[in-house]
Amino acid sequence: MKALVLEKAGQLSLRDIYIEEHFGVDDVRIKVHTVGICGSDVHYYRHGAIGPFVVKHPMVLGHEASGTVIEIGNGVKHLKVGDRVCMEPGIPDPNSKATRLGMYNLDPSVRFWATPPVHGCLRETLVHPGMFVFKLPDNVGFDEGALTEPLAVGVHAVRKARIKPGDMAVVVGAGTIGIVTAMAAMAGGCGKVIVADVVQEKLDLATSLGMIAVNAIRDDLNVIVAEVTEGWGADVIFEASGSEAAVSRVFEPLCPGGRVVFIGMPPHPVPVDIVSAQVKEARIETIFRYAHAYPGAIRLIESGKVNLKPLVTDRYRFEDSIKAFEYAANPRPSSVKTVIEL
Ligand SMILES: [Zn+2]
Repeated sequence: MKALVLEKAGQLSLRDIYIEEHFGVDDVRIKVHTVGICGSDVHYYRHGAIGPFVVKHPMVLGHEASGTVIEIGNGVKHLKVGDRVCMEPGIPDPNSKATRLGMYNLDPSVRFWATPPVHGCLRETLVHPGMFVFKLPDNVGFDEGALTEPLAVGVHAVRKARIKPGDMAVVVGAGTIGIVTAMAAMAGGCGKVIVADVVQEKLDLATSLGMIAVNAIRDDLNVIVAEVTEGWGADVIFEASGSEAAVSRVFEPLCPGGRVVFIGMPPHPVPVDIVSAQVKEARIETIFRYAHAYPGAIRLIESGKVNLKPLVTDRYRFEDSIKAFEYAANPRPSSVKTVIEL
């Protein structure tokens, strides 16, 4: 079948590829409709590796996908042929200890699309376990289906923060993950959400979504948070930038007894002043992807509490996938999400 294949760092081709797929009773075959390009796809394209994951053989990219069910195993009861669906891209070993404990995202043997050596979803069709395929409500489109993947990260982060009604949250970083986290925080009960970044175009989007935008080049985040909270500090801070400078100062705008959730992944170890967290008895949480977050994310979209439509800023056809990646590697500053439509 036709697929967008990363041959090696910097070299993509749209070509036929044979992918061995076993279709079992609990599986679903899906015709792929829309795929979002993620920062990790672009990173593999440019560098051929993320940390220990190195592209050694040609690999199909993409992990944010929606599509239509075209074949169904006898054991799958919650779907039928013709259903519009989105897919959770990580497949754990169902018998692993982590999976049995409910933390299937932490299963060391999880197979995640477009994380070498596992092929991704930028291809015509794919086979996926039914338990990781979710029906889209009638009012949720294919774009939003594909973007359920990043939203699931935000939902997972917000659950880890254990938000209380009216909480004041700060999201550091206004990339896709920062914005969907801020959306999930608002939908999850926060009374105010401040989003900080250094790119004004990204902050303009945050403002248009009802968040308080802080340009960290022009303004001091600590001062703004103090103004908004009468000097108390933010109840929750979501670190979604992965930037060394931001991470090292992350506890400064936090209130006593507050919570910090680390979402962004700094490329190198970052020195952090532990005492600045201790004097506030900060509760520190981390996340790695998500578990059990898709159904909740889909309900937020269906109910209108989260509107992902403004995040789709750029669209390419499957035939132009290579162009799409060249663009996504060097996008205009106001670009949020580039999608490819098959
Ligand atoms: Zn992603």
